[in-house]
Amino acid sequence: MSEKYLVINGGSSSLKFSLYEMPGEKLLINGYFEKIGFEDSFWTLKINSEKVRYEGYLANHSDAVNKMIEGLKEHKIIDSLDEICGVGHRVLHGGEIYSDSVEITDKVLDDIISLTKLGPLHHPGEIAGIKAMKEVLPNVKQVAVFDTAFHQTMPKENYMYAVPYEWYQKYKVRKYGFHGTSHKYITEYMKDRLNKEDVNLIICHVGSGASISCIKNGKCYNTTMGLTPLDGLIMGTRSGNIDASLIKFIMDETGMSVDEITNELNKNSGLKGICGKNDFRDLLALKNSGNELGILAYNMFRDSIIKYIAEYCFQLEGRVDAIVFTAGVLENNAVLREDIVNKISPVLGININKDVNDNIGYGHELDEGVINTDDSSIQILVVPTNEEVMILRDLCEIVKA
Ligand code: ADP
Repeated sequence: MSEKYLVINGGSSSLKFSLYEMPGEKLLINGYFEKIGFEDSFWTLKINSEKVRYEGYLANHSDAVNKMIEGLKEHKIIDSLDEICGVGHRVLHGGEIYSDSVEITDKVLDDIISLTKLGPLHHPGEIAGIKAMKEVLPNVKQVAVFDTAFHQTMPKENYMYAVPYEWYQKYKVRKYGFHGTSHKYITEYMKDRLNKEDVNLIICHVGSGASISCIKNGKCYNTTMGLTPLDGLIMGTRSGNIDASLIKFIMDETGMSVDEITNELNKNSGLKGICGKNDFRDLLALKNSGNELGILAYNMFRDSIIKYIAEYCFQLEGRVDAIVFTAGVLENNAVLREDIVNKISPVLGININKDVNDNIGYGHELDEGVINTDDSSIQILVVPTNEEVMILRDLCEIVKA
């Protein structure tokens, strides 16, 4: 008999869900509730690539969950709630407590609540999503899949900051890394593809949020995001790594508070900070029009990716099985992929296979492929990520255990 599993991603004022049928990982329906808690809340359900839009006031995440159940019944995806065998929740921060996905017991929920200080923007919405699901499905296993968990294998020399050691001991200040579910999905995919467990990879996840992971012997060895997702690469609206003294300097110059500056660094920096455009397609259009700041933002963005590829090549002592490009920007944009490969080519001896590269991404024939030429020293691949499916797999494993 087929079984159905729900994957939930709760945001501060949003909730995304996908319902899958197993075996086969078949997506039956997904949906997105937006502006929860606002007068003009709305939601969309997508079934067989057809979208239906609804409007109505959603006071909280419980209202969204109830509308989701109504939608599942209205569209005859389920007849009864008994058909749902498990619920998997994306949770941002597992701190040092969780290095794998777990069933959400009362203790786990308390831990997630206590970790809110490390994920203040994400955890309240995620906790609301968990509580709302527990209300409607009290007897169904709920599982937390942490964005940080995959990175818990990093060695201490890679996760410590060179700040007073006490800050780590007392406050757990360290690098955690994020996008772990995506980096894990790609690592598992590459292990299968290369038929090798102890793979060495450099995984470049570049969407509006962006991070690169260094995978050594099949495990995460280093990653670019830090205590929070602000660190590392330049992103759509995040600055990436900066000199920490900048914060006090701007405070003194402008009178802004630390909270205000942190908000600027997260929401109004990165590509948007430099040229006003955070969507990569808009940035490309600006750059192609010859706009000076568009060109500058593009070059900075490209070079921040190259910088970490270089660092991780050295950390892997040159033994790299593959460099993988994934997420919205690198899955879809051949120009940036080609520019990155051409820049690392003289040192790494990799050449782009332009025919294949130009044919991968939105509006093209392929959605994945090997984009280096046969004479290259390292394989470069484009692989679409799938965080929902990774959550689904962990969920099923725990439900069946
Ligand atoms: P996130 O999950 O962090 O929101 P995504 O992985 O969905 O991000 O990536 C979003 C980014 O991908 C946006 O900057 C968008 O411009 C870019 N993107 C999406 N489609 C394309 C495309 N066809 N060409 C270039 N960039 C694209």
